[in-house]
Amino acid sequence: MARVAFIGLGNMGGGMAANLVKAGHAVTAFDLAEAALAKAEGNGCTRAASAEEAVKDAQAVVTMLPAGRHVRDVYESAVLGKAPTTAILIDCSTIDVATAREEIGKAWQAGYRMVDAPVSGGIAAADAGTLTFMVGGADDAFEAARPYLEKMGKAVIHAGGPGAGQAAKICNNMLLGASMVATCETFVLAQKLGLDPQTFFDIASKASGQCWSMTSYCPVPGVGPETPADRDYQGGFAAALMLKDLRLAMEAAQSVDSYTPMGAAAEELYTRFAEALGGGTKDFSAIIRMIDDSWQAPPAG
Ligand code: NAD
Repeated sequence: MARVAFIGLGNMGGGMAANLVKAGHAVTAFDLAEAALAKAEGNGCTRAASAEEAVKDAQAVVTMLPAGRHVRDVYESAVLGKAPTTAILIDCSTIDVATAREEIGKAWQAGYRMVDAPVSGGIAAADAGTLTFMVGGADDAFEAARPYLEKMGKAVIHAGGPGAGQAAKICNNMLLGASMVATCETFVLAQKLGLDPQTFFDIASKASGQCWSMTSYCPVPGVGPETPADRDYQGGFAAALMLKDLRLAMEAAQSVDSYTPMGAAAEELYTRFAEALGGGTKDFSAIIRMIDDSWQAPPAG
């Protein structure tokens, strides 16, 4: 059993902290939102009055926060110099590669080991303890973080040095976003050319067009295995989060002067769908409704 501080108990962090409790750890939790804190307490965490209080005698600190600026704020104001330097620092948030590298550098200078460990898998996987962690950091930091991550996930992969976890995450999601758009426009075209969608699925699944966005996550209702498309695109991976990841990918691409035309097209299309057309809370495969022109924007307000 170890003393773990958990900061950021939202949709993802709530379930992850509960799984650390189930694994026998003593989890001290902090979130700015009272409702998130109360839920964590109900799941067996001990409530802290501040992030600083949560980390004060921790052996591991886990954070699951919205974006880079929240991670910078929390680490610089409440973790570095406040947690014992023996604590392993694990940031599971999806943030920009540059901030991840900067914070790991600052932690190292202050005497800590730290990793970036973003996840693949949504809220259901966070609750079930079946996330995939992509981890960036030095070998010793990875080994120190691994036992905690294994209690929250089904796979823990060392991607490379500081920031490599974030790089792997946004590259994967850029590929996913672009391949989902390609899958959607392909099915719309196939139907307009008179092909039955299930028949086309059966053919393309065994031909060279095969890809995860089609065979495991088909955006067409009633075709392939059950997916969010069969539940009016509820649940799954929100289009707003896909857009967040595509923006991080474009920012990273610009920083290393990498040409990403398909990623840029996907970012533009998801901006239109999630923001201009109000589809942000739908699963990201719902973008097919923008492509086939059947999307009805939710009423304003
Ligand atoms: P969320 O908004 O539900 O939770 C974030 C929590 O952080 C909130 O409860 C908020 O109150 C808290 N918070 C913000 N600033 C804080 C601070 N300074 N101190 C303490 N708590 C603070 O978000 P989420 O869906 O849980 O996502 C968290 C991260 O995981 C994001 O980076 C997201 O991109 C990533 N992610 C989400 C999913 C998903 O399906 N939701 C999947 C993969 C990765």
